[in-house]
Amino acid sequence: MNNRNDALFIAYMRAFEESSKHTAVCVECQDGDACAEGDPIHAEFHGLQDAWTKKARVEGKKP
Ligand SMILES: [Zn+2]
Repeated sequence: MNNRNDALFIAYMRAFEESSKHTAVCVECQDGDACAEGDPIHAEFHGLQDAWTKKARVEGKKP
């Protein structure tokens, strides 16, 4: 794993943490209906998850 991948992975893990942390205290987001505050947090996480999954696939690694 090179440094560029590490940076992406760290950002992805950080976004996952933020998204989980918000969902833990937000009933709307727990119901799968993202609130105004949670929406950008979850969107960032999903974007980074996509980027990471694609990169891992291109490089022949498991996501
Ligand atoms: Zn929320």
